Amino acid sequence: MAKTRTIYQIMESQTTMEGAGVRLRRAFGQDHPKLDPFLLLDDFGSENPDDYMSGFPWHPHRGIETITYILHGEVKHEDILGNAGVIGQGDVQWMTAGSGIIHQEMPEKTNGLMAGFQLWANLPSSNKMMHPRYQEVKQSEIPTVQIGDKISVKVICGEVEGIKGPVQDIVTEPEYLDVTMQPNAVFKHPIKDDHNSFAYVIEGEGFFDDKKKKKVVKHHLVVLEDGDEIQISTSASKLRLLLISGKPIKESVAWSGPIVMNTQEELRVAFEEYKNGIFTKHD
Ligand code: FE
Repeated sequence: MAKTRTIYQIMESQTTMEGAGVRLRRAFGQDHPKLDPFLLLDDFGSENPDDYMSGFPWHPHRGIETITYILHGEVKHEDILGNAGVIGQGDVQWMTAGSGIIHQEMPEKTNGLMAGFQLWANLPSSNKMMHPRYQEVKQSEIPTVQIGDKISVKVICGEVEGIKGPVQDIVTEPEYLDVTMQPNAVFKHPIKDDHNSFAYVIEGEGFFDDKKKKKVVKHHLVVLEDGDEIQISTSASKLRLLLISGKPIKESVAWSGPIVMNTQEELRVAFEEYKNGIFTKHD
């Protein structure tokens, strides 16, 4: 019999400043056993250019993956290896920093609504120094799975009703779903029992366990207990959420800013190499 996941914790995302002065909401930004392999989820959304125009100028990453999903607006990215492109509305960039990327992420538009998410996924020690890699997915390549007439799921990574998302071959076997539910709907979805899982409410409200004890509203993160299935339901309101899961790495974490390694010595070496201009290892 399926073991339905229950709620471990509900947390409201907190307003913070990042990059060169971008105002955003941080859903989490910590090494936590229930969130492993994920380290951070930022929710940026504003109609005020003062909140986002400063962007994220040149900075390094090593030892992690950064996953950017744009809901509104456009972000231009470029790295010192010569890769560049625009992440447009509905697009996803899954960047594996691996051994090292130095890049910048800047808003392409100077007015209007800018909204999206950046997730950080850790890499296991065996993959921290892997070759950097981008998987860039356009909105049109992301399948939308319709379940009945009340539920639709954009499958960025993972599988729903036999439909696989375009992002493939990620070490921590993540699933990244954008789920929209109409009122009075129930979405049941299998999640591997040994994977950690969380949801983040983008719009509306709903329930994240089968007992329907706690209604969870916009801007809240739901960290889930173990189980092999999740049950999400709505009552009078619509609900849009991100549902994300992945295989925990269970290794020591040494984290400073945009670099996440296993030991303090590895961190020291990374910042030393950055300072000395020998940070990137692969062309
Ligand atoms: Fe970055």
